Amino acid sequence: MSYMTANKGGSASSGSETAETPILCESCLGPNPFITMTKQSYGKECKICDRPFTVFRWKPGQGSRFKKTEICTTCATIKNVCQTCVLDLQYGLPVQVRDSALGLKSQMPTSDINKQYYVNNQEARIADSAASGSQILSAIGPATSAGHDMLKQLARNRSGGPNYNRNKPHLCSFYAKGECKRGDACPFRHELPVQNNLSNQNIKDRFHGRNDPVAKKMLSSAASDAGLTPPDDREVTSLFLSSLPEGITDAEIRTWFVSNVSTLEPHQIKSITLVATSKCAFVNFRTRHAAEEAALRCSAKMELGGQQIRVAWGRSRPKKAGTAGAGAGATVSAATTAKEV
Ligand SMILES: [Zn+2]
Ligand SMILES: [Zn+2]
Ligand SMILES: [Zn+2]
Repeated sequence: MSYMTANKGGSASSGSETAETPILCESCLGPNPFITMTKQSYGKECKICDRPFTVFRWKPGQGSRFKKTEICTTCATIKNVCQTCVLDLQYGLPVQVRDSALGLKSQMPTSDINKQYYVNNQEARIADSAASGSQILSAIGPATSAGHDMLKQLARNRSGGPNYNRNKPHLCSFYAKGECKRGDACPFRHELPVQNNLSNQNIKDRFHGRNDPVAKKMLSSAASDAGLTPPDDREVTSLFLSSLPEGITDAEIRTWFVSNVSTLEPHQIKSITLVATSKCAFVNFRTRHAAEEAALRCSAKMELGGQQIRVAWGRSRPKKAGTAGAGAGATVSAATTAKEV
């Protein structure tokens, strides 16, 4: 299957204000290789960096609605996403899914002043690399093939190709209320709305890869495929690693998590209990959220010293009245129960 192409013009465009060609995915472009676009310089403010940019508008095929670019080429290039749907160009998946699978950390600040400064800097970098002919998509960085395998699988599960359904006209709000009198002449779609996650998605969240309901759903199904569904007991905040390579240190395990889990800060790992003789370890996180993020990353695959590591959730602590302590006690009881697996 072919995924997304950058723009049909070929090379990446540089400089948001002077963009000659938009950066779009195949789905947003539509099935017709020859489409007419209108172009409006400084037409709108980019929904991410707030700077004015060139807005392109086109109709991606028969029976589809007009589409337009929503974010500038610089922002799209920084994240390697489509300027219209803001999905990853290579896989057609949400940024949050891509970044979790590949362990990419977002460098982009979200506060107004820092954001503009960052985008301006990146724009200069993009222009430089275009001039020298080098690739700018360093945002995508070096990544484990395990992460890419997971993304390929998720992309296949999803549609297996461009999804032109996304270009259909918006739903007719009058039809939903039984009040549309325009019949066939109505430019909107006469279908009843289905409550789905995509309907209330925010473009900034999608871009920055946070609080993305679609991503969350995809990632949790990937986690369950990998046997890493978070346990119901919210007190469980540790992951159990087994088949670790000989001579591994807890520092190496810590480094792997910090550099591979996109949202994880070093202080969020509370402790690591390594049992060298049985080649297993407990990684104890400060919060349930951190543990869940780490488990999602491990759904793709965890490799250390060229060896695939088995990852499972820690077990619940047996309920004992009056034991308040965390830490060592928790680890030991979890360690003993884990051996029963
Ligand atoms: Zn922008
Ligand atoms: Zn798109
Ligand atoms: Zn209607």
